[in-house]
Parts: sequence; C-alpha cells; structure tokens
Amino acid sequence: MVPYSFYSPLSLPKRGLFRERHFTMTSTALWDPAHEALSAADLRKLQSQRLKALVARVYQSNRYYKQRLDEAEVKPSAMKSLDDLKRIPFLTKQDLRSYYPFGLVCTPLDDIVEVHASSGTTGKPVVGPYTRADVDLWAEVMARSLYANGVRKSDVVQNAYGYGFFTGAHGFERGAERIGAMVLTIGSGNTERQVDVLQDFKSTVLACTPSYSLHIAEVATEKGLDPAADFDLRLGAFGAESWSDSIRKSIEDRWGITACEHYGLTEIIGPGVVSECSERRLHINADYFYPEIIDPNTGETLEFGNEGELVFTTLTKEAFPALRFRTRDLAMISEDTCSCGRTLPVMSRIKGRSDDMMKVKGVIVFPSQIEAALMVTPGVSDNYQIIKTKQGDMVSLSVEVEPTEERYREGHLDELEKRAEAEIYRILNLHVPVAAIAPKSIPRSTGKAKRVIER
Ligand code: ZN
Repeated sequence: MVPYSFYSPLSLPKRGLFRERHFTMTSTALWDPAHEALSAADLRKLQSQRLKALVARVYQSNRYYKQRLDEAEVKPSAMKSLDDLKRIPFLTKQDLRSYYPFGLVCTPLDDIVEVHASSGTTGKPVVGPYTRADVDLWAEVMARSLYANGVRKSDVVQNAYGYGFFTGAHGFERGAERIGAMVLTIGSGNTERQVDVLQDFKSTVLACTPSYSLHIAEVATEKGLDPAADFDLRLGAFGAESWSDSIRKSIEDRWGITACEHYGLTEIIGPGVVSECSERRLHINADYFYPEIIDPNTGETLEFGNEGELVFTTLTKEAFPALRFRTRDLAMISEDTCSCGRTLPVMSRIKGRSDDMMKVKGVIVFPSQIEAALMVTPGVSDNYQIIKTKQGDMVSLSVEVEPTEERYREGHLDELEKRAEAEIYRILNLHVPVAAIAPKSIPRSTGKAKRVIER
C-alpha cells in the first residue's frame, strides 16, 4: 500500500505557507485511505465478501473447522451476510490448546514461513503460524497502526519489546520498517544501554510495554538525566499489558511524549489489531479483523454501544484464521465518526480481561481499578503490587506500594496508606489494606509487569 503522504511534520521547514499547507494535509493523512475511510456500507460489503470466502476456505481445508461447522449445520454456501456469522460456534483458548501446535492450520505446513507463540505461562502456549501473505498483512496493519500514532519515515524507533517467540517486537519492527522509519532492534532488557541508545541515536519513538518505559525513565533519572528534557523522544508505542489512564499520564509527564496504545493478540495476528489515532481514539482494523461484542455469560451477540466481551474473526488470514475467537477482554465498540478521517469502528480501552477479574467478598474487582485509585493518591510512585491470598474459596486482597523517594523520606507513611485505602474504597466500596514499602523493593520488569501476585 502506498502511504497517502510521506511528508513528516518534523522534516518540513519551520515557517511559511508551505509548511502550513502540508501540515494540514499530514495531520489528517491516513496510511491506507482506500480502506481506513470506507463508508459504513462499503466496509460491510468488503467484510461480508471476505467472510464468505473465509468460511468456504476453512471448511475445505481443516478437519476441525469442518466438523464444527457441520455440527452447527452451517453450510459455507448458506453464508449470505455478516449476520450469518452468529451461527458459527466460538473459538476459545481451550480449543487452541487442544489443537496445539498446528491442528488449526488451514494451509499446507509447507506454506508456513514464520511461527510465533505466547509465553504459555498458564498452560500450552498459543501458536501463531504465518504464511508469506500473513506476514505481509501483519506489516501492513502495523504500519497503519504506527502511522495513526504519528510515526513517519523520519522517525527513529527504539524497539524495546522482547525479541523471541513473542509477537510484540517483530510486529513493531515490521510496521516501522514498512513506513520507512529507522528501527533500532535493541529488544528489551539492559536498561542502562537503553538509556545510552536513546541519547546516542536520538530515538524519537519508544516501543515497549508501558511499565518498561517507566523503568527506563527511572534508570535515566538515576544517571542524572531528565527524561523530559535530555532526549529526543516524542512518541511512545505501548502495548502488551493493560494500563490505566493515570499511568499513561504519568508516562507522558515523565518523558514529555504522547503515549499511544496498541492492542493485539497472538491468536489474531499479534499487535496490529487496534491502535490509536491523533484524536486518542482506538480504531479497529475491521476490514481485516471483524469485531463483535458478546455477553460473556450467555454468548449472545450485543449491539455496538454495549459493554461486553470482544470477539474477533480474522477475515483474510491464511495459515491460522480465527473464526469468532473469544478474547476474554471486556470493552465497548461504537460506530461514532472520528475527526481523524478514519471510519473504522472505535473501541473503548479494555476494561479488564475477564481472566483478571477477581471476586472479593462479593465485589467484582479489576486490577486496573486499584491502579486508578493508587495513582490519584499523592506521594505514591508508579510501582505497586496487588497480593491475592486464597483460603479455600475465599479471596482476599492487599496492596503494597512504593512511595516516591521524596515522600518516603518525609515519613508518616501510615497517612499515605490510609489515603490510598480511602481512594480504593471510594472506587470499589471495599476495604483493601495498603502497605507502603521502601522504594525499589518491587522487582522491575523489562516486559509485561506482574501487578497481581498470589501468596
Ligand atoms: Zn480517529
């Protein structure tokens, strides 16, 4: 796909009409206007055509899918519109485990050129096989996503996601490269070196988990640097973990950057499913990944505008297409227009993974709610841990937080603890004990932060 404009606001002359004219153009520019700005009717038409072809293809090429479709009495030839999708059974994480590693592949294994996998911390990993066309699609949706964030050809992207089986680093590298940016393939870890590279290579975009960006800022500060003043960073491309708006604000203030959110899953393609535009709205790449919202308890499809569990169907993927994959993530989708010019549907931030949901004394608790309470408590740093204790069926929670160095030195930490407890109570109506512990005593992560631990 040829981008609409290669001009970057950063590379243009600072003054004059020329810049203003082009600035107006670039500020609304889309990577792939032919698909990102389709009318609602044209988008549905495209999705519907792709869905029919997909169902026919999986039916013919994969025994498991054929059996599931036969059991549900869905004939590929009877797929007339997107509404018929409702008749197709869901695909769950458990299904993926049962057919580990290649049972759901819909092409000859010979056609697979690349394989990724999730960490598999809670069982068999989820395996993502890609054909050459799948890899190309991935580069395309990642380029689109990063371009929506504002990444341009003139940028220097420090890619501090972990390389390896995990999709993260590879997806961001592919997308940034397709835009034509300079990609620094440093990977995660070795944080002092990250700081040096940020300075020496004048990185303008940092791609990593949000929590790792805070750790890099912490190390930069220890080295006597001011993250907001001593670097060229202007954008953060963050994903792979859930983070509250307050953590986002904290990252933006510390680094003096715009922090953009990315959402994706190994089961769907990796990062590149959803990303954020200049209006801070999360657009779903719905021409490739068809979204639905369902009631997580009944499986019933809900109208857009309701909160529920996100379900995705990959419309064009070859090796490992997913039909109605249940993400376990709760969100809301709207078809509101966005002034960025994209007509792709807009998703709310993820409220929480249904898997992360805890029930404590009858109260539904998401870790993000506790994070939100802590972040409005003065003197609390970005580092905290939720401790989940199970006694029989009873779950109880407590929280450990690190105060900022300054606040720690002031003492009277019981006041901070009480204030944090009150903020949590205000949000959850639940008493959760908070303990203030010495700064830097919670282990830092260079990848996904482990905010909830079981003791
Ligand atoms: Zn937008």
